[in-house]
Parts: sequence; structure tokens; C-alpha cells
Amino acid sequence: MTIRQPHMIERSNFIRKLIQILFFVIVTGIGVRFYQFVSLIDAGVLPGFERPPGVEAFLPISALVSLKYFLFTGKINPIHPSALVLFLIICMTALILKKGFCSWICPFGFLSEFLGKLHFRIFKKGLSIPLWMDLILRSLKYIIAVFFIWNISYQMPLSSVEEFIQSPYNRFADIKMLKFFTRISATAFTIILILSILSIIIRNCWCRYLCPYGALLGVISFLSVGRIIRNPLNCTKCGKCEKTCPGLIKIRQKDQINSSECTACMECINICPEKDAIGFSLFSGKFSVNELSLALILLLFFTIGISMAKHSGKWQNNISKNEYLDYSTTQSTFTWSTNRQIDPHKMEKMVKMMKKMKNQGAYK
Ligand code: SF4
Ligand code: SF4
Repeated sequence: MTIRQPHMIERSNFIRKLIQILFFVIVTGIGVRFYQFVSLIDAGVLPGFERPPGVEAFLPISALVSLKYFLFTGKINPIHPSALVLFLIICMTALILKKGFCSWICPFGFLSEFLGKLHFRIFKKGLSIPLWMDLILRSLKYIIAVFFIWNISYQMPLSSVEEFIQSPYNRFADIKMLKFFTRISATAFTIILILSILSIIIRNCWCRYLCPYGALLGVISFLSVGRIIRNPLNCTKCGKCEKTCPGLIKIRQKDQINSSECTACMECINICPEKDAIGFSLFSGKFSVNELSLALILLLFFTIGISMAKHSGKWQNNISKNEYLDYSTTQSTFTWSTNRQIDPHKMEKMVKMMKKMKNQGAYK
């Protein structure tokens, strides 16, 4: 029996952590740059730099609408082209690396994993919920995903798709999304707080039960040519892999893991004490993929996809900075005029007070 050495375990975790941190830093950088862009626009100044297109990764509805438009017309619409490009890249990764995007790249997956660590610090042995409840809750993310996909693909005629793409709502959806966070309402803040607390109490709560993006990737991942393969000849069925698996997959029951919950996190491989008992491979074991190769494949997908989009002019949108400026001016005028409207209750109180003062002889 060959015991996997601790340095091998550290190295494996190290590569995934490095990629997660790298993408988290990139996403944060994009967020900060976009915030600077919008702040200048709001101050009535034309920014001397371009809006970072990567911000469109957070516009999945726009991406879905764009996908329908692309499938029917063969064109990538110029309003949020990078939303569609990133959406397609992410979906393509699921055809090779299961839901690798979730555990290697997604910033929400990264945060969820961090909250999961707090879970084990608080509840030493971890909490689990009954299987029946887990099944019901897991259906939620599919219901949310089906709701959006059904409404966009079946309920929305092509004319409405074109209207939506050109609508002010969609054109400036990125600014609305930013302001959702920078001017967060009490309700939205409470919901985010509840979700964060839930993610500490129930490990992986957001990813496992609520994320519609993850649900879609899970369905696509059934077609993945890559998957975890367990070698029953070398496996002693010790169960360590199952205990560590964030997807709660019953690894010992199958030789090939084709679960929609597998995020190719490689944690099962890292913890396995046996040599060649479990691994990730492509085409039913023909090509084995280690952590480094998986990281390189993911990086290649993003680098090639984004470079192709840039070279073909399908990365930056065609909304001019002046248009952003006009939008911001309209919005601030609208907000100012709405804020100036008097609350009906206040108005009623004011009228009553004036009548009282008149009766008391304040006015002659
Ligand atoms: S794959 Fe490895 S960790 Fe999982 S049951 Fe078999 S020997 Fe144990
Ligand atoms: S631990 Fe293994 S089976 Fe579980 S999600 Fe990660 S890669 Fe998939």
C-alpha cells in the first residue's frame, strides 16, 4: 500500500487554491475598475479608460437572451457581447471538466468554500441534513434555472428578444447590477446575510441548493468526457473520499462518477490513501488529468475564448461613453425629481397643521 505523501496533498490543494485566488483577484479588479468607471460617469466626467467587459459575466439573463438571439440569427448582439462569450466558455468547460468552473474559478464557489470551512470550525464533525430534505432542496436550483430558460427560450418571441437587447434596461444592466451592491437596500442586504449564515450552517448551501448557473452546468456536465474514475481493484472502500466530497457523492457505489454535483475539485483524489485508486480522466480513463493539467485546460479555455472574442470585435460593447453619461444624467434627474415629491401622509399632516394654525389665528 502506498500512502500519499503530505507534500503531494498540499501541492494539489495549492494549485486549485492558486487558481481560485487568481480569479478572485481578477474579478475584484474588474469590479473596482468598473466602480471607478461608473463613479466618473456619475460625476459627469468622461472616463479616460474603457469599461472592463468582464463585468458582463454577472449578467446571466442578458447572456441567455443573447444566446437565443445568436441561435436564431447567427449574430452576437453588440450590447453585452462578452456576457455571451463568457457564458459559452463556461458551458464548454462543463463538456470536458464537469462543473470544474464552480470549484476552480467561480468567486461565489470560492466564498462558499470559505464559509464551509467556518462550518467545520463551528461544528467540528459537520452537520448533515436528512436525505429527503436534501433532495427537495436540490430541486430548487433546477426550478429557478428552468424558470429562466423556459421563459426566455419558449415564452419570449424573437421580436421581444431584439426589443429586450436594445432596451435601456439591458443596455445599462451592468450599472444597475453595480448599484444593487453599492446602494444595497435593507431587504437585499438581509437576504445576502441570511444566505451567508445558511452557508455556514449548511455546507455549500448556495451552490448545492440555489445557484441556477450551477444547475445548468450540472445538466451539461452529464455529457462531459471527463469524470472521476474509481479503480475497484485498488480501492479499499475506506470511505475517506466520500467524507471529504463537497458534493456528498456516494463515490464507493460507482466506478465512474457522472453526478451533476461533481465539481472536479479533486478533493477525493487528494485524500485517498491508496495508489491509483481514484483519479480524474478523459474518455473513460484514456487520458488521466492531474490538478496541473486541469488548471491549464481551464486557463486555456478562458485565454483562447477571450482572445478570439477580442480579435473578432465581440468583446467590448458598442455603447459609447457619452451614452453612459446621458443615461447617468437622466437617472440622477429622475431620482432628484422623485425625491422632491412630497409624501401624501406628510402632505396631509401639513394641511392639518396649517388649518390648526389658521383656527388659532396665526393667519389674518
Ligand atoms: S477511492 Fe480511495 S478514499 Fe475512496 S474509498 Fe477507495 S480507497 Fe478509500
Ligand atoms: S470530491 Fe471528487 S467526486 Fe466529490 S465533487 Fe470533488 S471531484 Fe467530484
